[in-house]
Amino acid sequence: MLTIAVSKGRIYEDALPLLAQAGISPTDNPDTSRKLILQTTRPDVQLVIIRATDVPTFVEYGAADLGITGKDVIIEHGAEGLYEPLDLGIAKCRMMTAARVDAPPIGRRVRVATKYVTIARNYFASLGIQAEIIKLYGSMELAPIVGLADYIVDLVDTGNTLRANGLEPKELIMPISSRLIVNKAAMKMKHQAIQSLINQLELTLNNQAA
Ligand code: AMP
Repeated sequence: MLTIAVSKGRIYEDALPLLAQAGISPTDNPDTSRKLILQTTRPDVQLVIIRATDVPTFVEYGAADLGITGKDVIIEHGAEGLYEPLDLGIAKCRMMTAARVDAPPIGRRVRVATKYVTIARNYFASLGIQAEIIKLYGSMELAPIVGLADYIVDLVDTGNTLRANGLEPKELIMPISSRLIVNKAAMKMKHQAIQSLINQLELTLNNQAA
């Protein structure tokens, strides 16, 4: 049996057509069913539906053999115990700095509010800027408006969320997309099943690109 961890929402929606190409279609809809474990059209594959930030944890501990989650989540979790064999090219967005439209350029010191503490710390360190990082769990757009921070680091897709709050995207930190991750022990123990799934997904991605 192969267990794949995936989060509900955009990643799930984008992953479904890819998984379907590998013969894996859930037999329940997680939006209407309250089930957290979904059987699929492949008797040897099941999906567990969990929060995006929990996907690397499930895979690292082997509670799931594989997972699908954003590069941002993988970096913040740390990649120990995980292989990351495929960029699935889904749920694409950008990790960016953002600030008030009238914000002065960053000097040698800056105060940054973000959920993405590791990414923010590495980014400002790479620029030689001394950053005081304030960890938030949501509504980061509020921070520059109420004077909690000068800048935020957040995921940006259309930029509408920023603009609606008087902010604008400033610098691109990195493009983000969802990746396939694999538990290292499972990769050995269930090598044939996992490798054949990776190959099928890779073939689908290559055909899409062609
Ligand atoms: P937007 O207003 O289109 O720029 O979307 C930005 C908001 O959507 C941010 O609050 C992000 O946290 C969230 N978001 C956008 N794209 C993604 C993604 N691929 N994965 C997770 N969250 C995202």
